Amino acid sequence: MSNIIENFNKINSNIKNLNPKKPVNIVAVSKTFSLDHIKPLIDMGHLHYGENKVQEANAKWRDIKNVKTNLKLHMVGKLQSNKAKNAFEIFDFIHSLDNQKLADIFSKCEAINNRKIKYFIQVNVGNEIQKSGVPIKEVDTFYSYCIKEKNLNVIGLMIIPPNDDNAKKYFKFIDEMNSSLGLNEISMGMSSDYLDAIHHNATYVRIGSSIFGERS
Ligand SMILES: *Cc1c(COP(=O)(O)O)cnc(C)c1O
Repeated sequence: MSNIIENFNKINSNIKNLNPKKPVNIVAVSKTFSLDHIKPLIDMGHLHYGENKVQEANAKWRDIKNVKTNLKLHMVGKLQSNKAKNAFEIFDFIHSLDNQKLADIFSKCEAINNRKIKYFIQVNVGNEIQKSGVPIKEVDTFYSYCIKEKNLNVIGLMIIPPNDDNAKKYFKFIDEMNSSLGLNEISMGMSSDYLDAIHHNATYVRIGSSIFGERS
């Protein structure tokens, strides 16, 4: 069996052992890896893949998505507004919605193409200057803007917690904020902390290196 499949199955069984309250979706983050490297997982039937660059996603996934129409592509990286239109064309989920300009563009794309996609609002949970995401105190207002003014299908919040060993604290905080907004999905947890994230009700975990190996 390919290592990738073994890695994936191990993660899957770790998750099953936690007995999560809600189904957990593994977004296999395949950024930097070639389609050849990813292929065993696609052939096995796994459907959710994550990328962090629009151009790379297009080059890698356009053809295969036309054939495997069930396959779902997730944008997990920072999104510049000049790339949003192209992102809309290839991605099914945007995990990094974090400003009005992006919301405006996506809303327009949905109207023009008569197609809706799913969004997570990225929250700058550690209020880090260098990080993207909506500041905590603006999340309520931005969420209302997205759903009421722009009619976007926001399914949950997303975080990349600060690198300060307090991930659990941030997971708990976002879980509570997510519930208070009445949202059902949460995008959090990566290779190093996905089990903690699921313990705090993550429903989409974004896992790269533990499946595909270290990125060069
Ligand atoms: C790369 C990336 C991941 C996956 O990280 P790993 O540590 O390799 O599992 C998850 N989320 C985001 C936003 C990423 O950019």
